[in-house]
Formats: sequence, structure tokens, C-alpha cells
Amino acid sequence: MSRPSKEEKLLAGIVAEAREAQVAWAKMPVKRRAAYVRAMRDRIAARADGICELILRTTGKTRVDAMSTEVLPLALAASWYAKAAPRVMRSRHIRGGHPFFFFKSSRIERVPWGVVGIISPWNYPFGIPLHDVMTALLAGNAVILKVATQTQSVGEAVADVVKSSGLPEGLFHLVAMPGRLAGRAMIAAGVDKMCFTGSTETGRDVMRTAAEGPVPVSLELGGSDAMIVLDDANLDRAVGGALWAGASNAGQSCNAVERVFVVEKVYPAFREKLARRAASLRVGPDRDFEVDVGALSSPEQKKKVDGIVKDALAHGARVIASSGQSEGLFHPVVILEPGREPIKALHEEIFGPVIVLAKVRDEAEAVARANDSPYGLSASVWTRSNRRARRVASQLAVGTVTLNDHMMSHGMAETPWGGCKGSGFGRTHGEAGLAEMSRIRVTVRDRMHRAPRAMWWYPHSRSVYEGLRAGLTALYGKGLARRLSALARFVRLFLRSFGRG
Ligand code: NAD
Repeated sequence: MSRPSKEEKLLAGIVAEAREAQVAWAKMPVKRRAAYVRAMRDRIAARADGICELILRTTGKTRVDAMSTEVLPLALAASWYAKAAPRVMRSRHIRGGHPFFFFKSSRIERVPWGVVGIISPWNYPFGIPLHDVMTALLAGNAVILKVATQTQSVGEAVADVVKSSGLPEGLFHLVAMPGRLAGRAMIAAGVDKMCFTGSTETGRDVMRTAAEGPVPVSLELGGSDAMIVLDDANLDRAVGGALWAGASNAGQSCNAVERVFVVEKVYPAFREKLARRAASLRVGPDRDFEVDVGALSSPEQKKKVDGIVKDALAHGARVIASSGQSEGLFHPVVILEPGREPIKALHEEIFGPVIVLAKVRDEAEAVARANDSPYGLSASVWTRSNRRARRVASQLAVGTVTLNDHMMSHGMAETPWGGCKGSGFGRTHGEAGLAEMSRIRVTVRDRMHRAPRAMWWYPHSRSVYEGLRAGLTALYGKGLARRLSALARFVRLFLRSFGRG
């Protein structure tokens, strides 16, 4: 066995402290725990401007992006979680499944995991970790949070919000350590559940490490969202939606629109409107709300996005619009029409303000191309017809489909969030997100506990076998007379519960 690393030793102490604090926290009624989350919401509301400013300084995203996709939705989410948690976490009677077990009565309880390890990415450095922290705490867990190294200062703001609620000591810990060590150290220290949000590649590593526990994991990973525009869509709205969801946070959203499939009948009109409006977007530093699109997170990210554009161009793609501005970490909003395939832009996560626009014959081709991706996070359908929208939505291999909008459901706390395929599994947000932060415990009570034994207990004999066989015939055999006679034999076995033999 290798010697524990410095990080593992540090986390072992933190997890032990968290575990101790969690015992009393788990016993506290959910309604009381919810009061702390409401206090967190009030802190967010009181400090909103400062938080947006900090997010801007740390990530280069605009203040409007910070407010609309992190701060405001999080305050709304806190309210929703605080209200929903007592209902979601309540224990429930399980309706009897079959008269065969009429003497049993069962309940299902939601039990906190214990200590939950949360690892979060840099792209929504305030919203994503705090969502997970609030739901984990509401479910009765203690939390160890590791945020992306480059957004540690926003992590400190998350910690401020959590601690300002007066949360009991020891329940919440923000740690600072390199990502590649954090997952391993958390698992080695004995966390009971891992919630990871980040790239698909890192998610695989977290899952491999978690297998050593084994520790349950939920993985919220990358995406390459498709948008499908049908011939009866409101084109102006669809163009506006594509640009917002494609370029918000400079395209660095797991659920950014990266691929737009438009049916041929409206393709020319859509293309013309999209190109015109994309070219008019203002990209640059947000000094006084004078820009639409902010910066990429790092020179590496810019290089990666440029590489994806170059790869498309080398395969005959055409840039049909570009917003300009590519100094420093800023990247223009680029609209590409693909040439020869395959290109990275259609099959990898771009994670930058680049949208691939492609013409399709019809709905069926749009669905096939949307599903032709290793990812399955979210997608959108744009049409005036609810019936068509639902028909297309039902064929999309993703976790969420939005109709005539995109991306925003992440801001609606009541809608579960998460993907399939390379986008991961498990859910955050909504009842499912709260449920994910707990495990299920079932209790099965015997109403006949005064009886000395159950009919299938020892000693076994031919008559026990035949009595059980008779129960099966009584339930599912053919012929009324045969079933009634089998029932009588089964009842004899049942009465064995009260006697000897
Ligand atoms: P990343 O995978 O590089 O890092 C995510 C977090 O994991 C960071 O805190 C990092 O320090 C940590 N980390 C790095 N290596 C690790 C390891 N080996 N073990 C454990 N933790 C490790 O991702 P990123 O670049 O910060 O974020 C962008 C990615 O996140 C994109 O792919 C994006 O699509 C995805 N994302 C997904 C969702 C979603 O809800 N599905 C939301 C936001 C971002």
C-alpha cells in the first residue's frame, strides 16, 4: 500500500470533522435545515452586485451573464429547494404490491449519504457548486467542496454565502488543492458520495477512482447541444435564441448551442438573419455593460477553440459571419457552415462562441444529425406547433429538450438537470437532484410478528414446497376448481406460521 499523500492526510482530518458534525445535522428536521438555505439566498441577494463583479474579474464573463445565469437563478433555486426539500425527503408508505404479502407493511425513507464530496468546474464557478452544496445540505449531508483552481476566489464567495447562514461548525469545508489529487484524496478519506461536474475526460477518471471505494458518483459532463429549427419556427426568435445560447459565457457552457440544424425551406432566411445578427454582436471586456459577449477563460481554451475552427476550415467549412474582436482572451462569435465531414466542431465539445449551421432536408434528418454525437446533454426544437415539437423531442437522446428556447432550464431549479451518453449520469436540480443527495432505506414490518415463524422458515419439507407451489397455482393456475383447492392447501401452509410442523 502506498503512503497517504499530504492531500489525503489533510482530507482525512476534514472528513472526520464533517462526519461528526453531520450526525446532529441529519437529525434536524428538514424544515429547520431549509431555514439555513433561505439565509444563504438572502446573503446572495444582499451581495449580488459584488458577487457578479467578482465573477467578472475571475472569469471574464459579462455582468449580465453572471447575473442571469448564476446569481439570480441561484437565489430562485434556494427558495425552491427550501420549499421542496421537506416534501421530497419525507418518508413514505409503500403501497402493498400483492395480497400474498398482506401481512407486511413497508416504508421508504431518504437517508443522507453522510459526507458528500463536490468537485465543480470554472465555467459557472458560483452557480454550479452552490446548487450542489445547498441540495446536499438540505438532504442532511456534510459537504467537502473543491472548486476549479482558477476560480478559487469565487469558491471563497460560495463559502461566505454558506457560512453566513450560521451553519453549524464542521459541516461545510472548502478545500484548495489541484484537481488531479482532489478526487483521489476525497475517496481515500472516505467520502460517501461524489458529485462531479466537469469535462467528460476528467469524469472518467473520477469514476475510475470512485470504483476503488466503491463510492457512488454522479457525473455532469460535457455537451455539444443541437438546436433544430423547423419550417414553421419563429425565425427571429430562433436566431436570437441561437446567438444567446451559443455565445453566452463566450460559449463556455456545457449546454451551449454548438450545432444548429435548419430545414431547407427556411434555411436561406435563417442563415441571412443569423449572419447579420452575429456580425453585430459586441465582444470585449465588460467595463460598463457595453458588450454582449465576454472572454474565454484561458489562452489554452482560445487555442483549442481556434484549433476546432481551423480543422473545420481545412475540411472546406465556410465562415458565414464573425463578430470580430480577437484580442487577448476574446474570441469572435463565429458562424460556420460545414464542408466535408467529419469535423471536430460537429463531434467534439467546442466550448467557445462558435456555432455550426447546417441545412437538413427534414425533421427526420435533423433528429438523426442531432443524435449523431457522443454527448447527450440537452437540445432544443423550434416550431410553432406543440405537436411537432413533442414528436421531435421524443426522439432526441438527451437529458433535456427545451422548446423554442435553449439552455435556460438549468436556471429553473424545479427541472432536473443532467445528461446521457458522454454527458454523464445522475441528476442535479429538481426533486431528482435532491433525491440524488440521499440514499434510500426501506423498512419492512411484519404485522404478524406475534406468530412464531414465517411459513417459509425451517424446517423445510416436501409439504412446505407443495404449499408454496399451491400458492402459485391459486394465484395464476387455470380453472376455478383447481385454484380453489390449491388455495386451501396454501392456507394450510400459511397456518403453519402459528403452529408447529
Ligand atoms: P475539468 O474536468 O477540467 O475540471 C473540473 C473540476 O475537476 C475542477 O475543479 C478541476 O480542478 C477538477 N479536476 C481536474 N482533474 C481532476 C481529477 N483527475 N480528479 C478529480 N477532479 C479533477 O473541467 P473544466 O474545464 O473546469 O469545466 C469545463 C467542463 O465542464 C466542460 O466539459 C463542460 O461541458 C463541463 N460542464 C458540465 C456541466 C453539466 O452540468 N453537465 C456544467 C458545467 C460544466
